[in-house]
Amino acid sequence: VKSVHEAREDVVTVARSLNPMGLNQGTSGNVSVRRRDSFLVTPSGVPYDSMKASEVVEVGFDGVPHGSALLPSSEWRIHRDLYVARPELGGIVHVHSMFASTLASHRKDIPAVHYIIAKAGGSTIRCAEYATFGTPELSAAVLKAMVGRKACLLANHGMVSAGDTVQAALALAVEVENLAALYWRALQLGPPVILDDAEMERVLEKFKSYGVQPRVRSLRAG
Ligand SMILES: [Zn+2]
Repeated sequence: VKSVHEAREDVVTVARSLNPMGLNQGTSGNVSVRRRDSFLVTPSGVPYDSMKASEVVEVGFDGVPHGSALLPSSEWRIHRDLYVARPELGGIVHVHSMFASTLASHRKDIPAVHYIIAKAGGSTIRCAEYATFGTPELSAAVLKAMVGRKACLLANHGMVSAGDTVQAALALAVEVENLAALYWRALQLGPPVILDDAEMERVLEKFKSYGVQPRVRSLRAG
């Protein structure tokens, strides 16, 4: 189990990687890590480059920040509601990445244009219904779109991805953004062929064992 300081450092490291990875612009994204009955989330409006681990805000599952001078991200509620509803999730990333946001502006789900979509948990990545940023309605829409999934688009807004760790959530955000770019490009040539449910069942079955791989990789890296 990581110390609270290590968990704060993880939030900062992942937040700082968003802009260089082309997943976000400015300070619009947010990143969190689960603790026992709270979570650590990026503060509102603090540039990632100057953000200190001590400025990461701890928020209880009751929505009350624990002794911080800074306000949590305006989307803290999405993080809180996902952690409470989904005990398997250990980290969450929310970004306004270009291609996910482009598809989300059409309120389009991403279909199975590539088998790798199974990494998000199913044969589609849903687009959550539109609601104003920072509202309980938006959080409710995200929870609904995330049923059986680890990622979703947010209508006219961006995307959310999650995983057992915040590093896994970041890796999935990269996959979702790549899929969104691929789908956008494929649409330029007309409607692409979508993998059918039977094939996606096979892929999802294979991914159950494929899911062991990231742990092997992290052991090598560590
Ligand atoms: Zn946002």
